[in-house]
Amino acid sequence: MIGEFELIKKLTAILKEDTIGDDTAYIKIGDKGLNITCDAFLEDVHFLIHYPPESLGFKAISINVSDIVANGGKPLYGLISLMIPDYIEERFLERIYEGVKAACEFYSLKIVGGNVSKASKLGIDVFLIGEVDRFVSRNGALVGDDVLVTGTLGDSYAGFKLLTSKKAYEEYELRLIERHLRPTARIDYINHIRKYANASMDISDGLSSDLWHIAERSNVVIEINKDKIPISNELKIFASKNHLDPYEIALSGGEDYQLLFSQKKEHFNPFLDNTVIGKVIDKGRALVLMDGKELERKGFDHFKKR
Ligand SMILES: [Mg+2]
Repeated sequence: MIGEFELIKKLTAILKEDTIGDDTAYIKIGDKGLNITCDAFLEDVHFLIHYPPESLGFKAISINVSDIVANGGKPLYGLISLMIPDYIEERFLERIYEGVKAACEFYSLKIVGGNVSKASKLGIDVFLIGEVDRFVSRNGALVGDDVLVTGTLGDSYAGFKLLTSKKAYEEYELRLIERHLRPTARIDYINHIRKYANASMDISDGLSSDLWHIAERSNVVIEINKDKIPISNELKIFASKNHLDPYEIALSGGEDYQLLFSQKKEHFNPFLDNTVIGKVIDKGRALVLMDGKELERKGFDHFKKR
């Protein structure tokens, strides 16, 4: 099978739509700007069936909110398609919806419809619509821009490894697991992104491949410094106990649902938990450099093994 991104290119070529390629699609109805997105959350692909059902509902909403926020939008309404196998009981579905409800309250959005169907495995497919007065694409990075990320990276992957490798946890491990099971999309950045970001996306596949997405869509050269990548204390402990490089985890882990964006240097806001990890240094070609060398893309691709 070809890679996920080549597949998307081939399929969108059939539709002859060149607007595809951001976290959400930007549409205008009258003079109102909207962004729409959908993301399926599937058993054995994105989650395991023994995870707490409330967290499945919460995360299915978060991953879609994250895409809306990445483009500077504010989430408003959603639809959910549930795919339900025989072995799922009613109470399990109710608990998923308790997670959905908590997410809707947290993000101030409403689920206004959806549908259910039988399936061989559990799936939660969410469609979201948001309003956006300035749509921020991946394609607007400018030479001289700083490149920033929010929060810390790599925690979710460490949480996933812990969830699937042991049963009793220390306090720091539980915090990593929480990041994996119940990520919160960065709605606190909506205003900053829509006002100041030149290019923006969320980090869902892994920082290294997501940096390449911005470089390619903006046709620029990005240089980053490895030691600027923000790593949590929990990830540092996890990495040292497991003899792993926390920066490698942050670069390739994925599912962080933090934001990756570029902006002019003067727009840096020291009151936000954002970190400058690099700079846009040239245009006319797509390239990502880390400490002077070409950065290998090592993110999540549905159709390729890691
Ligand atoms: Mg995304």
